[in-house]
Amino acid sequence: ARTGGNKNLQAKLVLLGDMGTGKTSLVLRFVKGQFQDYQESTIGAAFFTQVLSLNEATIKFDIWDTAGQERYHSLAPMYYRGAAAAVVIYDITSMDSFMRAKKWVQELQAQGNPNVVMFLAANKADLEEKRKVGVEEGEQYAKENGMFFVETSAKTAQNVNELFYEIELSFESMS
Ligand code: GDP
Ligand code: MG
Repeated sequence: ARTGGNKNLQAKLVLLGDMGTGKTSLVLRFVKGQFQDYQESTIGAAFFTQVLSLNEATIKFDIWDTAGQERYHSLAPMYYRGAAAAVVIYDITSMDSFMRAKKWVQELQAQGNPNVVMFLAANKADLEEKRKVGVEEGEQYAKENGMFFVETSAKTAQNVNELFYEIELSFESMS
């Protein structure tokens, strides 16, 4: 939504995914350019803002991360209600996390903003030797659900900026 001025945009972005898939790590990589091998699951701000300039627009991202509630496989709908975009994250080394990602997508489709733009991020792409979810499985699922798909690594930074760049573009085109 416009917040005044010509092109000062603000939008809510939520992160969804199983515990340990790397949600907090992806945000910290994007916002601070950092990575920690032992990311405390329940510590740290659950809310980040990041102002970005793209073309002529300034976009203020309100990024909502969870503080461990996803452990219980449920989040209050207020968490994702009103979100313009959602990144659903799984871990390529865990088939369970891919199954859970599909549940989050279904929940969003059922209860989220009907116009929410969804992104599917297959994280931990640096752990190729432990891969359990094929690239084409993620790609196929994303395609069926009209989602942008990318394999990322918060550790090596692979595709992290690309992911957030796509999100920026989608915000810009919505505004
Ligand atoms: P969250 O529970 O979804 O927020 O996941 P975290 O960001 O807390 O990450 C869980 C664990 O996975 C931590 O030990 C991270 O260091 C690790 N991790 C996160 N992203 C990656 C990644 O891309 N590659 C690897 N190898 N480890 C990662
Ligand atoms: Mg976390």
